[in-house]
Amino acid sequence: MTSRDISLEAVDPEIAKLIAEENRREHETMRLIASENYASHAVMAATGSCLTNKYSEGYAGKRYYEGQQTIDQVEELAITRVKALFTATAAKPCDLHVNVQPYSGSPANLAVYLAFLQPGDTVMGLSLAAGGHLTHGHTVSITGRYFKSVPYGVRREDARIDLDEVRKLAKEHRPKLLWAGTTAYPRTLDFEAFRSIADEVGAILAADIAHISGLVAAGVHPSPVGLADVITSTTHKTFRGPRGGMILCKAEHASAIDKAVFPGLQGGPHNNTTAAIAVAAKEAQGPTFKGYAEAVVANAKTLAAALGEKGLPVTTGGTDNHLMLVDLTGKGIGGKPIARALDKAGIVLNYNAVPFDTRKPFDPSGLRLGTPAVTSRGMGKEEMMRLASWIAEVVESPTDETKLARIATEVRDVCAKFPAPGIRV
Ligand SMILES: *Cc1c(COP(=O)(O)O)cnc(C)c1O
Repeated sequence: MTSRDISLEAVDPEIAKLIAEENRREHETMRLIASENYASHAVMAATGSCLTNKYSEGYAGKRYYEGQQTIDQVEELAITRVKALFTATAAKPCDLHVNVQPYSGSPANLAVYLAFLQPGDTVMGLSLAAGGHLTHGHTVSITGRYFKSVPYGVRREDARIDLDEVRKLAKEHRPKLLWAGTTAYPRTLDFEAFRSIADEVGAILAADIAHISGLVAAGVHPSPVGLADVITSTTHKTFRGPRGGMILCKAEHASAIDKAVFPGLQGGPHNNTTAAIAVAAKEAQGPTFKGYAEAVVANAKTLAAALGEKGLPVTTGGTDNHLMLVDLTGKGIGGKPIARALDKAGIVLNYNAVPFDTRKPFDPSGLRLGTPAVTSRGMGKEEMMRLASWIAEVVESPTDETKLARIATEVRDVCAKFPAPGIRV
């Protein structure tokens, strides 16, 4: 007997059980990890479809394998929808080219290096310690090893990106590539200012909107479209699509970007993911997406203010986007034991460095919290206030197991009222 058409439960009960357990965990806990979300059933149906079987190296109309009758249409639909979505909220009119083949955010960023730089060229990005991403030139990343990295930071007074410093460093080091993009930064990015700095030194301006692409598509965060030469993103964070990546660029860079993705870096695109990106883009064009994105930001502002009132200040004093960094420096405890305790209480987030952190990177002083996932469940002001109270209680006595268990029960009760997209109850 072959395992051809037998259910997952029958073929592999161990994995089936683990998936069921994860499904329950995702249902019963508060997902505050800023990079996570809940993909819809529709997105997951596309991800789990037969499109996973097809090889299609190349681009629509120029493939290296036969049998592309439907795949070309799938990829073209994804491209058309992503283009329409980001053109509608562009900062400036722009003839946009879209590539939906990058396997994820990091490979999308590598394609930018391959398209525009030679090994040893200089790149500038926000330092990891200040909220930047590994792929913007960090020493442990290939991007910091094969290229000369000049990181910029944030101001000590207000923890905001110091554009004067960016300009000064850019003039001194003349980078070939300038990144504007963050992974743990609660304020809007001034893409106009980055554009003028890039122009002053002749750099390629790359905007990495991995975290904020859903907000940008909905018009609730300023768009880099029409300003940046190239824009990279994941598709699974605020965008709420499948695990994947995409690149948007000015038409003049289309060929360099496409060649860098394939054959430069990758082989066959993940067509099931491409289809799911098309579905997510369609959902993002729908009537409820803007409301979702606005609620993500409103919830983040509510949560940040409530935490501040409970003696848990956030860096920069608030947030403009979907995330915040709680600074525990004044509490004399690291972020790691608090994150662990919160996880036991059903509140899932990550410990994170705060700018100018006085503790070690593996036990830094901060917590990163994001509202995309809880907002996708339909939670609002009341739930944000409760979250702030629970978090404050846990910070007060993180080793009180009885309390953690009590909060976990309360969290479960609230979650039961807000079924998450894509999760079976
Ligand atoms: C998440 C993220 C990435 C990387 O995405 P992966 O899909 O995890 O590779 C790149 N840049 C930024 C700014 C991110 O936040």
